[in-house]
Amino acid sequence: MAPKTTIREEISLSGIGIHSGRSINLTLKPSSAGEIILRRKDLGNSEIRIDSKKIKIKRSSLLDTKKGKIQTLEHLLAALYVFGIDSIEIELDGEEIPIMDGSALAFVQTIREVGQSSLPQEKKTIRILKSYTIQENEASLSFYPDSDFKISYSIEFDHPAIKRQELSLPINLKNFIKEIAPARTFGFLNEVPHLLKEGLALGGSLENAIVLDEERVINGPLHYPDEFVRHKILDLIGDLSLLGSPVLGHFKAHRAGHVLHLKAVRFILNNPEFWTYV
Ligand SMILES: [Zn+2]
Repeated sequence: MAPKTTIREEISLSGIGIHSGRSINLTLKPSSAGEIILRRKDLGNSEIRIDSKKIKIKRSSLLDTKKGKIQTLEHLLAALYVFGIDSIEIELDGEEIPIMDGSALAFVQTIREVGQSSLPQEKKTIRILKSYTIQENEASLSFYPDSDFKISYSIEFDHPAIKRQELSLPINLKNFIKEIAPARTFGFLNEVPHLLKEGLALGGSLENAIVLDEERVINGPLHYPDEFVRHKILDLIGDLSLLGSPVLGHFKAHRAGHVLHLKAVRFILNNPEFWTYV
């Protein structure tokens, strides 16, 4: 069994919240508690625990608890999940994780710089035992038993710069750093008025998202020709981290998104006959 790990040194980052539009300072602190604890400094250091039952989807994943909200968790959580960091304090002075460049690259780079250390506690891993498919209109998310953690994702957009993209790969640190972490979030110009009306994307800009007009990417070049599907994989990893343990299984998503990702997490946690701890 592998030990739980934390980071070796404190990490400080700051940036804009893509939805709130506010400037936010983020500090990641080593912890021996054996769990991920979030703190809102602006709310008297209130301690917020990750709970999939308290996640809402508002374009991004939003932790909504009585002690405070935290939005846009998924890219940071994806990075921590793949590094295997399961004991850490995430301190914020606002209600959102900064978006950085729209990818997980800044989180990956700083975590690699400071390094990790092992704790005496042991990790439990979830091993999928039975397959299942969640279908919603044209979208689906299935999971299957596997000796590895794998994701296969396909997307189809009626847009000439995206069209159909698919990618399948084992999710390990090496693949994550090279193939997934630099993939940025994306948005369509024609959706902006609607998002702003909903109070979302107030901090969105050409610096923190791939932006598409009706025909093309207006702020290229892309980091990968299929950066869109890679970002969907990043989001799925971040959402699967809500399982609270590493997972062995193959997840196949087609035209899915945060809502379906979260349904799969809740299904797994509510149906223990589909998996076992190893
Ligand atoms: Zn994302």
